[in-house]
Amino acid sequence: MRTMKAAVFVGPGKIILDEKPIPAVVPGAALIKTTTTTICGTDVHILKGEYPVAPGRIIGHEPVGVIAELGEGVTGYTVGQRVIVGAITPCGQCNFCLDGHQPQCGGKAMGGWKFGNTIDGCQTEYVLVPHAMANLAPVPDDLTDEQVLMCPDIMSTGFSGAENGHIKIGDAVVVFAQGPIGLCATAGAKLRGASQIIVVDRVAERMEVAKRLGADIAIDYTKVDPVEEIMRITNGRGVDVSIEALGTQQTFESCLRSLKPGGTLSSLGVYSGKLSLPIDAFAAGLGDHKIVTTLCPGGKERMRRLLNVVASGRVDLEPLVTHRFKLDQIEQAYELFANQRDGVLKVAITP
Ligand SMILES: [Zn+2]
Ligand SMILES: [Zn+2]
Repeated sequence: MRTMKAAVFVGPGKIILDEKPIPAVVPGAALIKTTTTTICGTDVHILKGEYPVAPGRIIGHEPVGVIAELGEGVTGYTVGQRVIVGAITPCGQCNFCLDGHQPQCGGKAMGGWKFGNTIDGCQTEYVLVPHAMANLAPVPDDLTDEQVLMCPDIMSTGFSGAENGHIKIGDAVVVFAQGPIGLCATAGAKLRGASQIIVVDRVAERMEVAKRLGADIAIDYTKVDPVEEIMRITNGRGVDVSIEALGTQQTFESCLRSLKPGGTLSSLGVYSGKLSLPIDAFAAGLGDHKIVTTLCPGGKERMRRLLNVVASGRVDLEPLVTHRFKLDQIEQAYELFANQRDGVLKVAITP
């Protein structure tokens, strides 16, 4: 049996480099030889045992690679072609997909998230892509792996926070937390035409990157009360759209308190435990507030659009890649990324 090196979840606190069989190609699927991948905050949740996956599962959901083999029935692609695949791999055929909710494919919440969750992922040398014709997105030759590495998840998720918040030209927007997803939400707010973009974080380097991606004002929440400051900046009006990009009670609540009546809270964070809603900030349910949640949009059409954004130079997310590791060093990469050492934003992993 031919084997490959892979980052494997063994149990809480333990993701190790191990040998796994190279997957056999099945009809409708495609085998991708990974050329570059990365680690996501969600992988850290898995590592810490906060999100359950089966022991033995290969982790990772952000692949850039080349087609190594096509399964029976897969047409329109050629072996050797360079592609990306979204973190979410919808079937493209079920009622939920056809209703525009690819991330909820199959009708189970988050059902479209398969890589490194319900099937083996891509922090390895070869990854089997299900429903290949719904998911393989060819990468233009003149773009590097690192230029497109954010498309499968971080860029798709961050942008969706701005898109589903229905930001209008001229809107005031706040983004709470400027990790990789929050930074992409900031870039998305700029692309959508927001005229005032406020970001809240405490890490100076992240706030600097935020400004390069379109933030007008950065608030350090350790120095001032962010809600008071946002109200001051917006002359007591509040923002039109607030984007939550962390997943805590406090940031959710601050998002709500920063909103104008009739505003939209667009939530991207992954919450745990319980989330409660303060009635005063929610105007007792009569403030015309909208709360929307989004899981990373996937599928080849979403990827095609994001690749176009990169190719056109509308936004440059390459600076988000701050560290590089070989697949052999993946345990080291997890250690750095999970502890947010050395100003890390995203790591590039190459087999
Ligand atoms: Zn992710
Ligand atoms: Zn589906």
